[in-house]
Amino acid sequence: MQNLKLPITISPSRSAQRRLVCEGEYKLSDMTRLLAECESGSEDVKVSVKFNVDERGLTVMSGTASTLVALTCQRCNENFDHALKVDFTFSPAKDEEAAEKIPSYYDVIELDENGEVNLRELIEEEFMLIIPLIPRHNIQDCAADADSVWGELPEELEKPNPFDVLKQFK
Ligand SMILES: [Zn+2]
Repeated sequence: MQNLKLPITISPSRSAQRRLVCEGEYKLSDMTRLLAECESGSEDVKVSVKFNVDERGLTVMSGTASTLVALTCQRCNENFDHALKVDFTFSPAKDEEAAEKIPSYYDVIELDENGEVNLRELIEEEFMLIIPLIPRHNIQDCAADADSVWGELPEELEKPNPFDVLKQFK
């Protein structure tokens, strides 16, 4: 499928009636709230989304989005690439009453006054939820000195062996 410029706002119900399937990209540089928490990577945001109506007649907007960002390792302060990928299944609601009727396996999204949603913002928010709170390299890739790497080990070693605990009762 060719790469289209995805619309930023879209009407889920109109798109669902047409069973629309979109594939395209957003510019990562437009996701400024996300970029407040990480650095831009070398990729834009790839999005694949399809619109459907489920057996209850609810509009469903589902798909995946992925990109690459750079995070700063909290152990060694070097940047590293981090892939972000989200799967989403949204069902739009025009108000709170409508939102309550949507089953919990869908994420409810609110429609704006034109019956549209801002797909780019939705995806940006999904990415923000999965940014690690304390970004760190994998241990084997980290340039931090050995002390801070090994510093995490004792916690593991101190965990009591459950079989040793049982032996004490015998
Ligand atoms: Zn590191």
